[in-house]
Amino acid sequence: MKIADGVEALEITVNLMGRQTTIYPTLIWDRETVILVDAGFAGLEQKIQEAFEKAGVSFGRLNKVILTHQDIDHTGSLPGILAKSKHKIEVFASEVEKPYIEGDKPLVKMDPARRAKMFETIPEEQRKRLEAAFSSPPKSKVDVTIEDGEELPYCGGIIIISTPGHTPGHISLYHKQSKTLVTGDALIVADGQLSGPNSSAAFDIDEANKSLEKLAQYDIETIICYHGGVYKENAQQQVFQLANK
Ligand SMILES: [Zn+2]
Repeated sequence: MKIADGVEALEITVNLMGRQTTIYPTLIWDRETVILVDAGFAGLEQKIQEAFEKAGVSFGRLNKVILTHQDIDHTGSLPGILAKSKHKIEVFASEVEKPYIEGDKPLVKMDPARRAKMFETIPEEQRKRLEAAFSSPPKSKVDVTIEDGEELPYCGGIIIISTPGHTPGHISLYHKQSKTLVTGDALIVADGQLSGPNSSAAFDIDEANKSLEKLAQYDIETIICYHGGVYKENAQQQVFQLANK
């Protein structure tokens, strides 16, 4: 879905354990730079490439990937995307998330007790497949670490907002020109409503809720949630209300 000139919410629908689910990586670009924010489950390189072409952006122009956090539904296709490119693609993430993404630390949601709790409602066979995916997570090198409040000088300016909670070093992004907030998993859209972070998926739900206060400080016209997609109606006010719940 087109958000503004040079901003698109890609829609990638996958069949995940018998259920259709759609994820929304964000594409931000101008003449020099093409940035992909989050890189899907493993094996989606082709679908992501097709989504680029549909947005009118040549996949071969991709030169930066920003990861909001370490979860495998955000990092899975990155190794494949990097392998496809003929030139260097720079990978950005927070300092806290870097060792998890690079495989130097086990993913925070791989803790056995946490996994058991997350998977307790999932049927046995599906759980086994998830367990397998979690036990050999994708690894990619992070080239650039980014900090809270930092403004990346690309595409008119992208501000990094540290929003820990869903994972310890989770970040969100604010694209100044289009007043677009890219939330990663700090917020979700469910049944057309903007909602706070998903407690069953959060590393620290209290911290995740507290992080919403930071998002509420921005002049927001459009929100892109990785899970649930685009939200526009009174966007800023909705974030403010969620932050003050
Ligand atoms: Zn996610």
